[in-house]
Amino acid sequence: MKKLVTLLCAAAIGAMSTAASADALKIGMAIDDLRLERWQKDRDIFVAKAEMLGAEVYVQSANGNEQTQISQIENMISQGVDVLVIIPYNGEVLSNVIRDAKYDGIKVLAYDRLINNADLDFYLSFDNEKVGQMQGEAMLKAQPEGRYFLMGGAPTDNNAKMFRAGQMKALQPAIDAGKIEVVGDQWVDSWLAENALKIMENALTANDNKIDAVVASNDSTAGGAIQALEAQGLAGKVAISGQDADLAAVRRIAAGTQTMTVYKPISLLANKAAEIAVELALDEDVETNAMLDNGMKEVPRLC
Ligand code: BGC
Repeated sequence: MKKLVTLLCAAAIGAMSTAASADALKIGMAIDDLRLERWQKDRDIFVAKAEMLGAEVYVQSANGNEQTQISQIENMISQGVDVLVIIPYNGEVLSNVIRDAKYDGIKVLAYDRLINNADLDFYLSFDNEKVGQMQGEAMLKAQPEGRYFLMGGAPTDNNAKMFRAGQMKALQPAIDAGKIEVVGDQWVDSWLAENALKIMENALTANDNKIDAVVASNDSTAGGAIQALEAQGLAGKVAISGQDADLAAVRRIAAGTQTMTVYKPISLLANKAAEIAVELALDEDVETNAMLDNGMKEVPRLC
């Protein structure tokens, strides 16, 4: 089965309202991990749009390291950026550094991933629970009965929890009906393929290779899991989900070793985020139509 789906929580993209007067605005973009294809796309689109609007963007990748990301953000604060756009590695540990940024009058936008207990100005993302639900539904369609292995994303990423919530929404009735059995449940540190590969190898060994479906939460982890399946001659025989429409994943779908991916229109998100970052920097009103409690405040968002 091949599946490419479009959805965006921020689908109600409004007309661009920012005046082209953003000269000398500085945006710091702190990215969790540019080793993953997904974030390279976000960076390219975001930077191009922000530059078009007259801003300069300083990009840093923490390569999946919590301390590195905090130091990079501290650096951006001392460089005097007007706005921080943060894709957090760990959404639970940035309260203090964001407090320092706010103290210096810097605006903060949480990009794609929520940051908890922090004084955010905006949060922009997709409907992540819906993504998980689509993954669960596609797995049930491909494999309505049998032994399921759940492969969650990075435990430090709030999105990973939302994907899981959506997956369970789809899977729970089949579990309750005894149609599917969950034979394992693991979370992949940093969403890295190499970690997913090891987890899948161990899961196959522990289950005597008797796994019918793998609910992988994105394409990088699916890629690692599929390598382990390939080594056992099981690639293409075990249903497996993904997300991001990474080029490698689309190729695997064409080759029949990956069942589906969820395509999210990154350009909508990245372009809109660049507009919002510039509006925040200029102290302009930002269009919002929803709020989300992050433990500290109701954070404006656009759905
Ligand atoms: C994103 C996914 C991505 C994953 C790994 C998540 O927060 O929503 O699109 O695959 O991070 O980078």
